[in-house]
Amino acid sequence: MSIQPAQYPSMMRELRKNFDRGRTRTLGWRRAQLGALARMLRENEKRIGEALAADLAKPEQEVYLGELSLLYSEIRHARRHLRRWTRPRRVHTPLVGQPGRSWVQPEPLGVVLIMGAWNYPVQLVISPLIPALAAGNCAVIKPSEIAAATSALMAELIPRYLDSRAVQVVEGAVEETTELLEQKFDHILYTGGAHVGRIVMRAAAEHLTPVTLELGGKSPCVIDEGADLASAARRLTWGKCLNAGQTCIAPDYVLVTRDQRDALIAAIGAELDDMYGEDRLKSENYARIINRRHFDRLVGYLDDGEVSIGGRYDEASCRIEPTVLTGVDPDSEIMREEIFGPLLPIIEVDNLEEALAFVRQRDKPLAAYLFTRSRVSERQFVELVSTGNLCINDVLMFMSVPELPFGGVGMSGMGQYHGKAGFDRFSHLKAVMKRSRFPEIPIRFPPYTDFKLRWLKRLG
Ligand code: NAD
Repeated sequence: MSIQPAQYPSMMRELRKNFDRGRTRTLGWRRAQLGALARMLRENEKRIGEALAADLAKPEQEVYLGELSLLYSEIRHARRHLRRWTRPRRVHTPLVGQPGRSWVQPEPLGVVLIMGAWNYPVQLVISPLIPALAAGNCAVIKPSEIAAATSALMAELIPRYLDSRAVQVVEGAVEETTELLEQKFDHILYTGGAHVGRIVMRAAAEHLTPVTLELGGKSPCVIDEGADLASAARRLTWGKCLNAGQTCIAPDYVLVTRDQRDALIAAIGAELDDMYGEDRLKSENYARIINRRHFDRLVGYLDDGEVSIGGRYDEASCRIEPTVLTGVDPDSEIMREEIFGPLLPIIEVDNLEEALAFVRQRDKPLAAYLFTRSRVSERQFVELVSTGNLCINDVLMFMSVPELPFGGVGMSGMGQYHGKAGFDRFSHLKAVMKRSRFPEIPIRFPPYTDFKLRWLKRLG
């Protein structure tokens, strides 16, 4: 049975006790936990696939691509670099500190909380758990109750594979999470919407607990003049339809130059035929919408533009066809809120400058995409668009690079993880200085004299 709210204080005491005993600090323990995590995923790929099919009708290929392969690569990367990451990082000691040595010593934070969202319900709890364990922390995992089958599976598997003196899973919805957030953690990594992000941050403030907020936003996709439309359409269509658009970094809307619009729409139509066939609502390669609330929200958006492609939906199976909308008013609801579904507004612009102005007037997104053949456009886009992550001539693929930190900026979140950035996120980078006892240079000690001051100024 899942841990009940009345047990949270004793769970926290136990975790803290085990952390204080130092068992999570050794390199051996950290390696073993990462190994066990990889084994947990490998030995249960089938059950994970079944849970994700029950929650989202996620196709098997997408389970691997969007959840498991990223986790395997993160675990491999962490195991390979663990020794180097944990080592003291020597820094320069200026003359006034000589003779002496200075270094940065990473140390674990303590007991951290990881709260996941429902759209990639395995990846979003395990991916932060990897650096949390690599950095030597104890962790409480709170999967999203909205992906109920996956949440239950995580609660069953994690205690079977990982050291339960250091890692616990708490299941539950608003009531349980509210109680959980009253506990004192040493860091909270939350993934989800901005509304709950504020709730998490407010609760964390009570204990002055630092937070990482992995939020969402409207990630723009700009098609520059003269872009390779066939390649852009293929990659864009894939990125938008993966998990039926319920991906935090999915291209939310497209800005395309006027003269390329119709060709782009035709190319997207052809890609949809290739990827999902004629009857896309029944395609096995296409996930469903998580629940009725999100389904209704998305169907409501269909009135915000003219349907150029798709537009059909099926209430019983909670599926909505990949849909291209044109004639969308930039101030309409669909352009104010993150879509988080398979609807793609295509908005015409005159040129890249107009597209850049459009993007820059809005909140900073989690991801931004540009399809172009021009180095000048590429440079302009990289310099002028403030976004969590950015990709030229593709979408989503930066996720496959463990050395790229992942996270938002402004309204799309705060703090980054993945790879070393994740290790550092779950570590305190303790500053250490060691002085040699001899020789003593007395210029900093009273009594102060002009001579000493002159020397102090000279040494800087
Ligand atoms: P969600 O409903 O699953 O909520 C996220 C977490 O918050 C869950 O663990 C849930 O139990 C908890 N929660 C919900 N209401 C709460 C409350 N009142 N008090 C305390 N805790 C509460 O997920 P969501 O908010 O629908 O997530 C979708 C959003 O997440 C989108 O905006 C998406 O872009 C974003 N997202 C971001 C990333 C990222 O890595 N940056 C990844 C996935 C999703």
